[in-house]
Amino acid sequence: MIPAHSAPRQPAGQSRPSEQASEADWHRLLAQGYREVGALLQDLSLSAEELAEPVDPATPFPLRVPRGYVARMRPGDPTDPLLRQVLPLDRENDAVPGYVNDPVGDLDSRQSAGVLHKYPGRALLVTTGACAIHCRYCFRRHFPYGEENAGRKRWRNSLEAVAADDSIREVILSGGDPLSLDNDKLRPLIEGLGKIAHVERLRIHTRLPVVLPERIDPELVALLTAFPGPVCLVIHANHAQELDESVARALGPLREAGVLLLNQAVLLKGVNDSVSAQEDLSARLTALAVAPYYLHQLDPVAGAAHFQVSDHRARTIIDELRRLAPGYMVPRLVQEIPGDQAKRPL
Ligand code: SF4
Repeated sequence: MIPAHSAPRQPAGQSRPSEQASEADWHRLLAQGYREVGALLQDLSLSAEELAEPVDPATPFPLRVPRGYVARMRPGDPTDPLLRQVLPLDRENDAVPGYVNDPVGDLDSRQSAGVLHKYPGRALLVTTGACAIHCRYCFRRHFPYGEENAGRKRWRNSLEAVAADDSIREVILSGGDPLSLDNDKLRPLIEGLGKIAHVERLRIHTRLPVVLPERIDPELVALLTAFPGPVCLVIHANHAQELDESVARALGPLREAGVLLLNQAVLLKGVNDSVSAQEDLSARLTALAVAPYYLHQLDPVAGAAHFQVSDHRARTIIDELRRLAPGYMVPRLVQEIPGDQAKRPL
């Protein structure tokens, strides 16, 4: 039995998400997340013997998953697509040729501490190493967040780096998960970026609205609304089962505040590598007014080789989805190649 955790349910479409969730609430929910494999399996009525392969409870990239997310898993099902995204497996420790610590060349595109400049007109700030969830396939699972963090000196160096380069039109807050930072920590950064004349747009890459929707509180919505230019929130959901009513409630006020909502997913073997899984994901996103933006081929990060889907299979899935769904419901299938000036379509 999964302990009760989230706010009381409201009818669908009623967008008063997290008025009931204060900052103390989401911090409490974050702190109460699972960190031990044994406790997670026990609450899902699973034993280690029922799993298809051994787990690694002592992995250096430890289990971390909020209880509200676990509540969307199917108890007793070792193949659950949400469980598979967070369960540390022993074979993550196997060295696999081609799977490396920095698969997208983050460190080669470093401009200053925590400031990456990969694509023309855009700068990406690595705001924190913290996440509410540890996704086993994360391309930054080995990233040296200690040294490469834009939050040092209360953002001063990062803001100066952005201000000094007037080719930057858009700033992307990434991590880790930028929304794992308090509003008080984010405020000087977002307000500071809003004062730089050449920064026209703000984009935030975050999995929090999906895995800990209570994080989207009115203060955060107000902070984003006050930014002088367009704000885009790119959420990260890989499976329709992740997008329950708590997520719908969190996204409502953002949408109503004019925040552009996009989703990026990763194609993951055993999670969403079927036409029906992709069709369901696109349908659920569209019902929540979130555009299916990107479907990423897996970045070859060390420890994640077991999630790899072949390019041929990936194209087959997208081609079939294109046949079944209108164009706006079909994400762009892309791969990030280190050194490229844009994501490469597959
Ligand atoms: S939330 Fe994003 S940054 Fe954090 S572990 Fe998952 S994929 Fe990586």
